[in-house]
Formats: sequence, C-alpha cells, structure tokens
Amino acid sequence: MEPVKIHVPNELMEPAEMQEFEGTCQLGRLSMNGDDYAFSEPCTWRVQVTNTGGALLVRGAAQAEGVCACARCLEDARIPLTGEVEGYFVISPEGEDDDMEGDEFDALPESHDIDLAPLIVQGLMLDAPARPLCREDCAGLCPRCGQDLNQGTCSCASEEDADAGNPFAVLRGLTFD
Ligand SMILES: [Zn+2]
Ligand SMILES: [Zn+2]
Repeated sequence: MEPVKIHVPNELMEPAEMQEFEGTCQLGRLSMNGDDYAFSEPCTWRVQVTNTGGALLVRGAAQAEGVCACARCLEDARIPLTGEVEGYFVISPEGEDDDMEGDEFDALPESHDIDLAPLIVQGLMLDAPARPLCREDCAGLCPRCGQDLNQGTCSCASEEDADAGNPFAVLRGLTFD
C-alpha cells in the first residue's frame, strides 16, 4: 500500500510536546490471517505523537471495513476492523543516523517524515478474525452437495434425518450379488 506520511513539525521536536494527526488512507487489498481482504472505503486513522525526550511516541487508532470470503459459505463477509496504531521513533543526533542501524527501535528519518502505513496495517491485522463470517449464524454450505444453506435447504439433510430413525438405513449401502 501507499505510504501514509505525517511530517513532524519543529515544535514537536521539543521534549514534552504533543500533537494530534488524523487522516484517511486507501488500504487496497491486504492478506490478513491468510484471508484476502478488499477495502473499497478509505481507512480512517488518528494518532497522537508525543515527544518523550529523545524519542517520539506514536499512539492512536485506525478503523476500516474489509470484505473477504466468509469462512463457511464463501460469500462476501463485511468485517469491521479497529486497530491500535503504535510506534516509537528514536530521535538520533544530527549525522548519527547510521548508528541506529540494526537497533530494535526505528529512527526518526532526517526528513522528519513518519510512515504510518506499516503501523496501521499491523494494528488492523491483530483485529482480523481467525474465521471471518458473513454473519454470526451463517449456516454455511452443505458438506455433501455444496448448497448454500443460507439460501435454502437441500435434500441431503432430510435424507439424513430419515435415515436416523431407520435401523435398516445401513443396509441401503450394501449390495447383494
Ligand atoms: Zn457465510
Ligand atoms: Zn446438500
């Protein structure tokens, strides 16, 4: 996806300063928990950037609605996602950017631009369900004939019911030569 950049103004480079940023971004298509999500509407995000003295703490939230295949019936499932946006960017002294390489924290780029895109995606991914459903009580597909049971019943279920009450049902599968 496209970078989601916020520019850290000079005022915010002073310790204890804090500023809010908000906006929208296009997520396009993303794979989450092995499911492909399509985002037609823009994702809305809002973050608070705090200068903790030597570093910038980014905290906020992002909201988006993705569409993926229902885990039971394969029809479109609309999944609202809300994620926390969290990041920590160390302010390195002028000309010492190279020293931050390999460090566990991100360094604030010399341009003072922070890309929120990876933080937004990370937060939304944590909210993605393991088994997305088109609705809580989705009936799914018939395992025998593949009929979408949300649209109507198939005859498989009634055959099973009939067999359940019939002690000779097992004999139906036997053939006598
Ligand atoms: Zn479904
Ligand atoms: Zn069936």
